[in-house]
Amino acid sequence: MSEEPSLDNDARLRRHGLQVTAQRLAVLRAVSERPHRTADDISDAVRAEIGAISRQAVYDALATFTDRGLVRRIQPAGSPARYESRVGDNHHHLICRTCNRMVDVDCAVGDTPCLTAADDWGYEIDEAEVIYWGRCPECVAAASVSSGE
Ligand SMILES: [Zn+2]
Ligand SMILES: [Zn+2]
Repeated sequence: MSEEPSLDNDARLRRHGLQVTAQRLAVLRAVSERPHRTADDISDAVRAEIGAISRQAVYDALATFTDRGLVRRIQPAGSPARYESRVGDNHHHLICRTCNRMVDVDCAVGDTPCLTAADDWGYEIDEAEVIYWGRCPECVAAASVSSGE
């Protein structure tokens, strides 16, 4: 069940049983426009756009969206949670250790093969979190320049 990209945010909210409000629309738009942002970054973007919304209201909206499966929350070790509206495909992430830039990586083979654990111990598995850590091309280039290579 992957999210239809054509579906507008209005319809997305309603489909997930949520009342459509200007605040929720602004939060969802901020998440859709720039994926993998932190709650603070999203809050700044939303406040710049609609002004009258508290940071807590943005956090609450993000928590509700995550609960309803409208938004996916990624929690990398040692860094604040990031949010994205690409849900339902169990894609993975690649994070730069130097600048924290995060990008999407599709599942290694086809559709969610990573959900098939070698041994599931009888658990009903619905998600696999895979984060690849490393350095992005820009940071690799910057490091080789500063080391005089
Ligand atoms: Zn980097
Ligand atoms: Zn992603």
